[in-house]
Amino acid sequence: MQSLDAELETARQLSVADLADAIESIGFECTRCGACCTADAEDEHTATVFPDEVRALEDRDTDDDYDWRDVARPMPYGLSTGADGLEGETFEWALQTDGCGDCTFYEEDESGTGACTAHDDRPLICQTYPFSVALAGTSQPMGEAVDEAGVVRAHECEGLGRDISRDDAEALARALKERAVRELEEAIAVRDEYAPADPGPGEIVVHDSEGAKRVDGTPLEEPE
Ligand code: SF4
Repeated sequence: MQSLDAELETARQLSVADLADAIESIGFECTRCGACCTADAEDEHTATVFPDEVRALEDRDTDDDYDWRDVARPMPYGLSTGADGLEGETFEWALQTDGCGDCTFYEEDESGTGACTAHDDRPLICQTYPFSVALAGTSQPMGEAVDEAGVVRAHECEGLGRDISRDDAEALARALKERAVRELEEAIAVRDEYAPADPGPGEIVVHDSEGAKRVDGTPLEEPE
């Protein structure tokens, strides 16, 4: 397996035209089924969100006031369950969920049709679902890839196989490349900055590309 730095260089060299060709050959149209925004039978919704994406979602011009914890929660993978709930260190943020385990930004109208209430500011992971690129250090949606073309993988989604316009395929390809580059930059920054935080019982520390943070997104150690 290549190092993260080599994978990042590969990601930066990805051809948007080739990615768009792959997406076109697989085919995709969102059916608004909501499956990628909601909990499944076993797990609550879990999707990675970058620190600047959390801030963009916090700062949206809406009637509601959002703070960091309204938008993001510590990625649960790697955390353990102590007497006071989850505790330990983790290395990503996930989109916050509601009481049903669905993404906090997901809403259904009376007919049951779902919509993203943060559509214009939705994270790259949402813009690019159900696709990923086959590079180590990038995130893969849950479940096995069900289709592939070149380095593009497609994951379970009822919208696969539908016609997609060239413009839409290119827009998706640009977002997919940006996501791969960003994920690898994040992973490298976390690798380079990481220092064990040794959280106490009931405490969680999230290490992201900006350093170690509390669950409310504030730095663990305030700058001097
Ligand atoms: S931010 Fe929007 S697109 Fe992304 S999971 Fe939530 S509701 Fe779905």
